Amino acid sequence: MTHQMNVYARLPIAFTHGQGAWIYDEQGRRYLDALAGIAVNTLGHAHPRLVKALADQAARLIHTSNLYQIREQEKLADRLAELSGMQEAFFCNSGCEANEAAIKLARLYGHNKGIEQPAIVVMEKAFHGRTLATLSATGNRKVQAGFEPLVTGFVRVPFDDLAAVEAVALHNANVVAVMIEPIQGEGGIRLAHSEYLQGLRRICDAKGWLLIVDEVQCGTARTGRWFAHQHAGILPDVMTLAKGLGSGVPIGVCLAAGVATGVFKQGNHGSTFGGNPFACVAALTTLDVIEQDGLMAHAHALGEAIREDLRKALDGIAAVTEIRGDGLMIGIELDRNCGELVERAMAAGLLINVTADKVIRLLPPLIFDANQAQELVTTLSRVIREFLGA
Ligand SMILES: *Cc1c(COP(=O)(O)O)cnc(C)c1O
Repeated sequence: MTHQMNVYARLPIAFTHGQGAWIYDEQGRRYLDALAGIAVNTLGHAHPRLVKALADQAARLIHTSNLYQIREQEKLADRLAELSGMQEAFFCNSGCEANEAAIKLARLYGHNKGIEQPAIVVMEKAFHGRTLATLSATGNRKVQAGFEPLVTGFVRVPFDDLAAVEAVALHNANVVAVMIEPIQGEGGIRLAHSEYLQGLRRICDAKGWLLIVDEVQCGTARTGRWFAHQHAGILPDVMTLAKGLGSGVPIGVCLAAGVATGVFKQGNHGSTFGGNPFACVAALTTLDVIEQDGLMAHAHALGEAIREDLRKALDGIAAVTEIRGDGLMIGIELDRNCGELVERAMAAGLLINVTADKVIRLLPPLIFDANQAQELVTTLSRVIREFLGA
């Protein structure tokens, strides 16, 4: 029946259309989308300004090639530089590709310094993608198993543990970079402390290492800053973005600043589709709407309110061990595996996700409103209570 490779455990549901934070299945049932295609649909579904911008651009020009100048790409690079303080952008089509670019850049940076076997410090429970290099950087055996030999040149340390990185700095002369998600997404919505990120910045400065932040999931205004590391007041040397940047149109980017600029020379890297006019217009429009509609401050305040209301609604349930997050990146950790909550919520008209076995993950679109937040809290807390028999 199916000619699709069997790599996904798909839920028995298909959607036909959406509007804002609502999405409709083939039976015409309506669901509240508190997942946004895993932090992708930043502006929700069928946002009128995005629809118009994409229709106009599709009618004009979808793709040329990086053999030519692309004005939309130049404009997006300028815009990202202005928002982030980074200086240069390389465009691709996904998170793993953005991270591949970052890993290649770090290795080349090392070779340029005479380090022939460059190593990158990576974190336990990290997720950086499914290509060979990025799955090797990922801190999850399930992602790696069966694909050995892994790409070498990664040194793994516990997340949010500065002493562990200091120990590596003392003993490993091959290190050229540290790569970290400021908030681990797949790993269970785990937040790095600001002091830790500042400490990493200090170590990287002292050792001449690149600080690479993977903001593929936590970036693009989701936490109430344009980029999550900005809460710590630091500037990385390299930052990767993807998921929410194009509101559903595939686009990824690897940004560089300071010593990481100018490392790639002509011929060192490339992408056929990367940064084509259509994808760049999707990203430019996403950034414009976020700014003009104040969605960053909105995400910050609404996320805080949702966590507060969830704490009240789930108060006194011992099985709920922690409710955490930043902005509209929310994790509810239980003391047990809870994957079946996804289908229970779906039956109640709500789309959520469970990651790291025990963490309910909420990544609503940034256009989520207060009524939808209320419905999310009411429905989800009821579903959790039923599941736990609490
Ligand atoms: C999803 C994700 C990736 C991989 O992105 P793809 O677009 O699926 O390749 C990388 N890093 C982080 C932090 C992610 O959440």
